[in-house]
Amino acid sequence: MRHLTALRSLRLSHIARTERSLGLRLVHTPSSTRIPNFAFAFDIDGVLLRASKPIPGAAESLSLLKEQGIPFILLTNGGGKHETERVAEISEKLNVTLDPTHIVQSHSPFAELVKGVDETSALEHKRILVAGGDGDSCRLVAERYGFKNVVTPGDIFMANPSIWPFSKNYSDYYKSFARPLPPVSGSQDPTMGLKIDAIFVFNDPRDWALDTQVIMDLLLSSNGVMGTLSEKNGRPDLPNHGYQQDGQPPLYFSNPDLWWAAAYHLPRLGQGGFREALEGVWAATTGGPGKGIGLKKTVIGKPYQPTYEFAERQLLRNRARTFMHATDLPPLQRVYMVGDNPESDIRGANSYRSEVGSSWQSILVRTGVYNGGEPVWTPRTIADDVQRAVEWALKSSKWT
Ligand SMILES: [Mg+2]
Repeated sequence: MRHLTALRSLRLSHIARTERSLGLRLVHTPSSTRIPNFAFAFDIDGVLLRASKPIPGAAESLSLLKEQGIPFILLTNGGGKHETERVAEISEKLNVTLDPTHIVQSHSPFAELVKGVDETSALEHKRILVAGGDGDSCRLVAERYGFKNVVTPGDIFMANPSIWPFSKNYSDYYKSFARPLPPVSGSQDPTMGLKIDAIFVFNDPRDWALDTQVIMDLLLSSNGVMGTLSEKNGRPDLPNHGYQQDGQPPLYFSNPDLWWAAAYHLPRLGQGGFREALEGVWAATTGGPGKGIGLKKTVIGKPYQPTYEFAERQLLRNRARTFMHATDLPPLQRVYMVGDNPESDIRGANSYRSEVGSSWQSILVRTGVYNGGEPVWTPRTIADDVQRAVEWALKSSKWT
């Protein structure tokens, strides 16, 4: 929870640096001089796009909001690319000009950990492990956020293939992007091995087995040094039976979704599936919840509070920039979250407690995963599509 608190407690002093790392620089000039006291957050898949095709009315809705100077962001559990690339793709598909200020991806809040809350928590110059994504695309994203020392499981495998011999079948793949490392495991002195200071699952792992092995090695290590095994593991006199009590790196996941909708006719396992698998291995190794042993980790992404906090801070920045010449900026009172997934979009908006006192109102649309009936999380309203949702919200906020 310490790390969750770290994410939560990051405030304005880090915003400018985080903005730079996310490529956020552009200024919008609305045609209207009225200042809305509300804003929008849109999920992407099933709301604006479906199977990469625009949903009718989506482009018109975003254009209208831009024209009216009503702030909005796209809030997605997707990722794997830098915000600049992601937003360029969406702009092209919808034919609406968007810039990186308009998007929050699952891993965007990790950018705040580059500088941390203070010098000791800053990860900028620490060595971090980044798992997930194609090749080392997520390493490149992390580097653009400002992390200076990023290692992938593929680097570790190529430096010492005996760490997980079954990945030798994928050597050509790993060879295509792996970077050289100092010795991974100290051959004479185990404490001289590679030290990792934090573990980030940025996106869905492509090689669950290698990633599971490397993450388990680090969680069981002493001080995050590869090739070591903590002597505290399994000691009943210590908290959590000694597990994760010996300076092991904190573990972060960016996206809790167990399933996601892909081209196949049935949903596919998402990053949440990988996490469950890892938790299963962890429980089998340590004794797990039956023995009172947990896996300490931080999970962000919708529906969790830190992601909504980050999104709201971004909306506030966009709003301040849009109305930079206003003498008196009224507080942001309402944010309409438009989503197709009751479990993430609606649950997240309903559960969110704003730091600035805004009220998040959830609107469920029928163009994605929700297929009628009583939703598991009750939205403020249900709309046929995003255009109807925006119309409802504008009316509700008496914006004509
Ligand atoms: Mg969706």
